[in-house]
Amino acid sequence: MANMDRCPICDVAVRPENLIRHLNDIHPRHPDTAKLIEELKAEPGRIAARRPSQPFRLSRRLVSVIVVLILVGVGGYYLVTNLPAGGTPLPCISGTGSAYHWHTQLTISSGGNPITIPANIGISLTCMQILHTHDSTGLIHIEPDTPEQARIYTVGDFFHVWGKSFDTPSRMTVNGTAVSASSNVGLYNNEAIVLEYASFTP
Ligand SMILES: [Zn+2]
Ligand SMILES: [Zn+2]
Repeated sequence: MANMDRCPICDVAVRPENLIRHLNDIHPRHPDTAKLIEELKAEPGRIAARRPSQPFRLSRRLVSVIVVLILVGVGGYYLVTNLPAGGTPLPCISGTGSAYHWHTQLTISSGGNPITIPANIGISLTCMQILHTHDSTGLIHIEPDTPEQARIYTVGDFFHVWGKSFDTPSRMTVNGTAVSASSNVGLYNNEAIVLEYASFTP
């Protein structure tokens, strides 16, 4: 048998590529082991020969990186799925209007001048709320997904999503008929609500 080493501690014959493992396995608590392994590691061939025997050994640093990536992923998922629902006036929806998909036309004037109702009210990067606008025509989209969400929404709900105070309009009409001005007026499909204010700041 050529090319055998002897263990400096127990003098048993060991293949050179197995000597570090032998010291680790058989003499882990011997006072000379750490120093011997350090010296052996400096010799070419010792480390490379050991590697195939422990192919699944992960470094501490790699494990840390994997754990951090998992935590970031879980945290991101938690934020995307939970923050909008808790942070917006109305729940986030799919945009398919699974329960119903209605439209109400809202028109607002201030001192006789038309007010532009912005596009994308109720829409952010991560959340489309049940009430929203897609353009600046004043068309409110009402798109609840679930039976629990399928109630009648009010013009006050829309102002809440918009972040505006309903305040006190001087005149309010629904489909051309004057009604007493109230934020509790419901948003029904294909109806037209007009709000006239002495002064309204968009
Ligand atoms: Zn719509
Ligand atoms: Zn929509």
